Amino acid sequence: MFDIPKSMRAVVYRGLNDLRVETLPVPRIKDDELLVKVGVCGVCPTDIKKIQFGTVTPPRVFGHETAGTVVRVGKRARGFKEGDRVALHHHVPCLHCHHCRHRAFAQCAQYKRTGITAGFKPAGGGYAEYVRVMNFVLPGVVKIPARNSFEEGAMLEPVNTVLKAVRRLSLLRGDTVHVAGQGPIGLMFTRLLQLEGMRVIATDLIPSRLKIARKFGARWVADGRNQRLGNTILTWAKERLDATVVAVPSDAVVRENLVWLRGGGKLLLFAHTRRGLATELELASVCVDEKDIIGSYSSDVTLQDEVARLVFSRKLDVRPLLTHRFPLEKTAHAVKLAANPSADALKVLVYQGGT
Ligand SMILES: [Zn+2]
Ligand SMILES: [Zn+2]
Repeated sequence: MFDIPKSMRAVVYRGLNDLRVETLPVPRIKDDELLVKVGVCGVCPTDIKKIQFGTVTPPRVFGHETAGTVVRVGKRARGFKEGDRVALHHHVPCLHCHHCRHRAFAQCAQYKRTGITAGFKPAGGGYAEYVRVMNFVLPGVVKIPARNSFEEGAMLEPVNTVLKAVRRLSLLRGDTVHVAGQGPIGLMFTRLLQLEGMRVIATDLIPSRLKIARKFGARWVADGRNQRLGNTILTWAKERLDATVVAVPSDAVVRENLVWLRGGGKLLLFAHTRRGLATELELASVCVDEKDIIGSYSSDVTLQDEVARLVFSRKLDVRPLLTHRFPLEKTAHAVKLAANPSADALKVLVYQGGT
């Protein structure tokens, strides 16, 4: 039996760029739910966007890349026991609605509900000491093997979003793929694509990231500012690219890569999450050249086991991506750093104690 206090510390979003450390009641759980003591929570760009652009109403407790320990199990919650070390997923689709039957899980009404909370309107809750895990997201809870850390567990959610996107590209072994942007997400793309047999060209503006890209399996790396980048890429690709993953929110990168693709090639947008922005594209490249522009957002629960195997076996070793750790009280600093990363910053984590 774990000793569970009545109150806890939590970082509450109170408005635009306003995160405050507050004391909240420890969430109460229902019969079919879990209470998890948070060990680690990753800082995700989608949280940053909500905090810096105020796209959702306050108050909320964000943080959804969460791993921790099950400290209370509702009477009717099956498959878990106190003391289990787990990684959480805050969105789980219903698997049978119209969207789910089309495998568009992120559009499912159940999926859009957030099933993990530390209080207020559910928003992930990972920037708090305890979270309540609702019944409909229990299929997304993964046990962390003894040899792996909470940190590795917290990375399952972002890795899942990347593997889902890789699958949406439906490439063939030996294809040449340009991954533009080698932040934590771009690096995961580089590694997963290489594991699936692709020849990866990695570009970024930060030299230290290119070094890691090499270790993560990039066959070629280049500085994105290189004036002759197009020529260089086309020489490496021996003509044209089979696909480009755009892991930076740059419209110029989208436009130039659309030109560098072969007919029938694919361009995947992964970083263009801000609404209301537009850009000009030559639509004949889609209609006549049959180049596909694909988006991918959020995770695919059916890939969960595969993602867990990749991360926990360290075939995709996420540890080199974890560069900065902040205690819960310093969550605002963590978010600031993740929003404006220094050259050495990749994934930023918030710590509530324990590894
Ligand atoms: Zn995320
Ligand atoms: Zn559904």
